[in-house]
Amino acid sequence: MALLQIQEPGAKPPQREQKFAVGIDLGTTNSLVATKVGSVVETLPSDDGEDLLQSIVHYGDDGIKVGREARDFLVKDNKNTVVSVKRLLGKSQSEIREFGYYLPYKFDAQLPDGDPAIITRHGSIRPIQVSAEILSVLRKRAENFSDKEIDGAVITVPAYFNDAQRQQTKDAAELAGLKVLRLLNEPTAAAVAYGLDAGAEGNVIVFDLGGGTFDVSLLSLRGGVFQVLATGGDTNLGGDDIDRLLQEWLRRKEGLLSDIDDKAVTTLNLLATSLKHRLSFEESVEYAFDSFTGVITRDELKGLCKTPLKRMTSVCRKVLRDAQLEISDIKEVVMVGGSTRMPAVRETVADFFGISPLVSFDPDKVVAIGAGIQAEVLVGNRSSDEGLLLDVIPLSLGLETMGNLVEKIIPRNTTIPVTRAQEFTTYKDGQTALSIHVVQGERELVSDCRSLGRFELRGIPPMVAGVAKVRVSFQVDADGLLSVSAEEVSTGVKAEIAVKPSYGLQASVVEEMLKSSRENAIKDMESRSLSEARVDAERLMEVVKAALLEDAGLIDPKEKSLIENKCELLTNLLRVGTSAEIKQATEDLNLVTVSFANLRMDAQIAKTLHGESIDSIVSE
Ligand code: ADP
Ligand code: MG
Repeated sequence: MALLQIQEPGAKPPQREQKFAVGIDLGTTNSLVATKVGSVVETLPSDDGEDLLQSIVHYGDDGIKVGREARDFLVKDNKNTVVSVKRLLGKSQSEIREFGYYLPYKFDAQLPDGDPAIITRHGSIRPIQVSAEILSVLRKRAENFSDKEIDGAVITVPAYFNDAQRQQTKDAAELAGLKVLRLLNEPTAAAVAYGLDAGAEGNVIVFDLGGGTFDVSLLSLRGGVFQVLATGGDTNLGGDDIDRLLQEWLRRKEGLLSDIDDKAVTTLNLLATSLKHRLSFEESVEYAFDSFTGVITRDELKGLCKTPLKRMTSVCRKVLRDAQLEISDIKEVVMVGGSTRMPAVRETVADFFGISPLVSFDPDKVVAIGAGIQAEVLVGNRSSDEGLLLDVIPLSLGLETMGNLVEKIIPRNTTIPVTRAQEFTTYKDGQTALSIHVVQGERELVSDCRSLGRFELRGIPPMVAGVAKVRVSFQVDADGLLSVSAEEVSTGVKAEIAVKPSYGLQASVVEEMLKSSRENAIKDMESRSLSEARVDAERLMEVVKAALLEDAGLIDPKEKSLIENKCELLTNLLRVGTSAEIKQATEDLNLVTVSFANLRMDAQIAKTLHGESIDSIVSE
């Protein structure tokens, strides 16, 4: 018998069970994990008190090491020490070769191009396995902290990450034993940390300047939906450049331009970085190097940074231009990445946008904290009206139709998750299979978009062209991953694929594709109408030629040759004509075949009326 639970008068109602959720910033150089501690979300430290875990993995004789311990092998054993694995995720071997900088690793040539793996003393290791090692360390750190198993994690990815890169991030997390609640764009996470999702609507710039990379994202926030309007950046701009400029300055100043040994170079590099860091907090600092001593001021450092600072503002200008917005349209600027601690960077940003950037969170931790907050919502610890973020798809998804054309099924910037369906039909009489080619991009022609996958729907019963009804459904889940299915409606024949591309795009391709679609919009319209004209022309000619083969006897030779001439003219135009010319010639051919078509129909009726039953007329 069930007992009714009666609450003691005055006692608090039992609390909703709290789940354990974490946010993870899986970074190129450093990774972090954040979770709710007391009433706020914070990043968690290692046993050594370090919140940042260096994203370095060493495959050694005595096992696998991650972080600072792995870093010690960077020089000693570089072939077995993997750094910046994030740059390899979702890439093919040939794309990795195109990086244009030296990698010490050997890739396993036995594996297909789409499946790169680094040869280590532990065998061939795929990028997702390396990422999984980093994630495992963070998972254990969190589980030790709370003595509980993690119920779910939100993992951040750059806004420009494509399907393949996102999928591999998710695979790596699953390999590390994490249940992924959602992948979240890094700039969106930073904006969430500052609570911008709860505030008023508007456009936000996220300015992320790290050690070697610079990313700018323009987000728009409307009705609880963050939309990435534009992204830009420079994969070779960051704190490292400033270190280099400062080293050169020191050498010039002290006359150390030549004759300097390796040890002195290392010392000088360390000195430059430490001066740079201290100048973020002090107006001027003294230094000593060998027998030299000197002073450098914050203003002097800013003077040295003129070129990189200019590059940063020109990226910002370009991002605004791509989104067709003005500086005055920007409501907030969020600062992310260690190098945004530099006063010179903050001043430059404040001058450019005319507003003070948000800097109150530690720029290293802000992405992980935002991910942790979102994880709390998704795991169910907070109600979803306390900021459930909705993401949008960055590029349109569609299929190839006749004539190399793209039919968009889900347009870009649609909020996900989403399901959309559209009906298609067969092109030829008796066609029993339909090839479905899924593409991504904004352009009108298939060859200008990115191919995501192909599959076939077989077993369509033979019918007259245009009668079969094939319903194609696109489903995008909350992580932006797509699956496609097709069904012939009258028979229920089905086929489906999950679109999981085996390798990805260059990081800048999404942006490039968007840009070229804008530039080519007019050209594309002409290509589209040309393709449509060609398809119509070919379809008509096919019908006419088949009719001539069967029933040429119904017309006199003069009429027959007139029709053949028109067909020939049209065939020539298909190769060289404009869409208008092809349309005109198609219409002409249509006109000269009207009487032939009528004669055929009469003949057909006459034939059927000679002794065939009504049933067979209907079913034919
Ligand atoms: P990444 O995104 O590449 O992983 P981070 O966001 O961790 O990089 O930033 C690393 C960069 O931040 C380094 O170039 C480092 O010198 C710089 N940095 C860290 N602290 C400071 C500081 N106090 N002043 C200036 N630069 C700093
Ligand atoms: Mg970073």
